[in-house]
Amino acid sequence: MTAVWRLLHSQPLLTLLSTLAVTLGLITCGSTTAPLPPNAEPFAPPAVYSRWWKMTEACSGRWGSFAALRWYHVPGHFVEVDGQYASGYYSLGGNRIVLVDDMMDEGHSVRHEMLHALLRVGGHPRAQFLGSCASLVDCQGSCVTDAGPWPAPSEFTVVPPDSIDLTSHAALQPRETDGQRYLALEIAVRNPLGRAILVSIPPPPGALPGSVDAENPPGFNYKLAGPLGGIGSNMYIEDSSTVFFHPFETKQFLYEFRVDSDLTANHIPPGPYRVLGSYGWRWTAGETIIVTR
Ligand SMILES: [Zn+2]
Repeated sequence: MTAVWRLLHSQPLLTLLSTLAVTLGLITCGSTTAPLPPNAEPFAPPAVYSRWWKMTEACSGRWGSFAALRWYHVPGHFVEVDGQYASGYYSLGGNRIVLVDDMMDEGHSVRHEMLHALLRVGGHPRAQFLGSCASLVDCQGSCVTDAGPWPAPSEFTVVPPDSIDLTSHAALQPRETDGQRYLALEIAVRNPLGRAILVSIPPPPGALPGSVDAENPPGFNYKLAGPLGGIGSNMYIEDSSTVFFHPFETKQFLYEFRVDSDLTANHIPPGPYRVLGSYGWRWTAGETIIVTR
């Protein structure tokens, strides 16, 4: 659901040389009455989807029938819907979720569509997509546009990124009932101050004016490096609410990776991994975790 660059490399540990960059389609999902794409195929949701559904119910405070949803996937990186390219969408008319193959194991993208299904409204309400469920669903591109302007609080102090606490924690999850297993990475930033703050993230030294790095401060991102190489994300901050913190507020984002045979954007083979999280241009010291099936 998000225009994320994923970097794959064949070097051990954290050299993270990019050898392949893949971008997914633009976000344009939401409630729609678009017919099913001709190449869509139904699939039975894996067990983890039930867990993700409960997480999305909890953050949204909305409850719905998981069993009533219908699931379809289409091959490739994007699907055309309502004349635009998307990596997935929810159809209110058919109570169905259509995902591109690349997205089927991407928790925050699948939960994004689940949130649509629970809210059963068009567009991307700010209160959920950028509010109560912001730690569990991605929201970029048209999601941010749909949410409308952020009503900035009247009082806050602008602080540099090193004013906030940054932590990350990776944990191998229990096997799902169908045998799948996921590694969860939770990245957290906390305002240690007893006053509201707005974190100003300057461009990195040497960034050219107008360049991607200068114009798009990075949000919650990760690097994973293991026996077959590494993967990383490049999620940008697109909404100012993401850098505003109430006194002592903590913001989090959850990434999950399925344990599988190959190294892809969302799959990692078993083995030892070095795992780091970031926010702004800062990175955590990281930790090493043994991933097993
Ligand atoms: Zn959406």
